[in-house]
Amino acid sequence: MQKNEIETQPGCEDELNTGLLTVAEAQARIVDGVVALSASQTLPLREALGRVLAENIVAPINVPAHTISAMDGYAIRAADLPVDGVREFLVPGTSWAGRPYLGPSGPGEAVQIMTGGMMPNGMDTVIMQEQVERDDDRVRIGSGHKAGQNIRAAGEDIKKGQAVLASGKRLTAADSGVLASLGLAEVSVYRRLKVAFFSTGDELRAVGEPLGPGEIHDSNRYTLYGMLKKLDVEIIDMGVVKDQRELIEQALKKAAGCADVIITSGGVSVGEANFVKKTLEKLGSMSFWKIAMKPGRTLTFGQLDDAVFFGLPGNPVSVMVTFFQFVRPALLKMSGETDAASVYSVRAFTTTELRKHPGRFEFQRGVLEQSVPGEFTVRSVGAQGSGILRSMSEANCFIMLEPDQANVEIGQEVLVQPFQNLI
Ligand code: AMP
Ligand code: MG
Repeated sequence: MQKNEIETQPGCEDELNTGLLTVAEAQARIVDGVVALSASQTLPLREALGRVLAENIVAPINVPAHTISAMDGYAIRAADLPVDGVREFLVPGTSWAGRPYLGPSGPGEAVQIMTGGMMPNGMDTVIMQEQVERDDDRVRIGSGHKAGQNIRAAGEDIKKGQAVLASGKRLTAADSGVLASLGLAEVSVYRRLKVAFFSTGDELRAVGEPLGPGEIHDSNRYTLYGMLKKLDVEIIDMGVVKDQRELIEQALKKAAGCADVIITSGGVSVGEANFVKKTLEKLGSMSFWKIAMKPGRTLTFGQLDDAVFFGLPGNPVSVMVTFFQFVRPALLKMSGETDAASVYSVRAFTTTELRKHPGRFEFQRGVLEQSVPGEFTVRSVGAQGSGILRSMSEANCFIMLEPDQANVEIGQEVLVQPFQNLI
């Protein structure tokens, strides 16, 4: 007898997510599973900008090196400050920034001093030039001034011997300036991480090539390239590799021979031969994870010789989301960075309804806006399919919806992860 029902198999949209890893578990396993590079190199200060410091910096000198004036005015001894009335001082000379006054500077004298000028011997207080009366080689100073005012004490910014920057810090413009103020011409930084990647798929065509039936342009290598660029790693683009066992094996071996990290995209759908997985099982080690998230869901994490391997899904949005959530933190740790707190999240009120089924953690694409200073709204960019790459291009944030969350009504608050300037 013919059945009038068909039996379905569990598929991607299956809401029974038993046995799946949570996003947090996958993130923790990955970050725990990689170690920082050990090799470092010494670079001139300017070239070290944006690189990760590989030494602890201890101040070799005081900054400022000498006690200097914070104002244009007159340097005197605090003991000479008039308690009331006006006192007249003799002006024996001037201390310019970089050209100190080296003559005698005794009690009852006021040395003219410029901002940044070194305080003359024995003098500890500066009166602003606007608050005095100058008459030839004399100056009159009134009461009401404070002992020690308007000076920058030697070492008030950084004290000699003080720990200034710790190994693992990615050097910012301010750090570079701090190192320069210490007189350091070069510093030790971790070498750049080498990251090789390729796309897998018989349907993929390079940009500039015409498309045959069923073919698509390879966009994942462009999103990956762009995201890697932001991380200051050495990028090795290995192109598209066809879904053939020998070709994939060759490509993986070549990548392991020249890179610290290998990233592939595609080839992990149900029904695909997945030669990447087979090669890693044969030549290295790997774990294949199903993660309770959307988009994304599948991730392969493994090792081939000394290289760490990430097998990302093929769908263009899944690639970007899994890269950002799993690969990026690992690459930062491997680069030596200890404080990779560049990603933060904020609360925002949604101005559009957000459609969601309970079950998986969703990274929906949204536009975060500041409604008034300090308050944020977010709206969905619309269609959330894992193949709709335009959703990433239009978005500036992920709207992070917990697994048990259902539809979100307009006006409700959600957690949002801005990624502007990060990818
Ligand atoms: P796969 O995991 O290989 O089955 O890929 C899933 C989907 O993503 C398929 O529709 C692929 O055509 C697509 N896809 C895979 N790799 C790429 C790529 N490099 N660029 C754009 N789309 C891709
Ligand atoms: Mg494929």
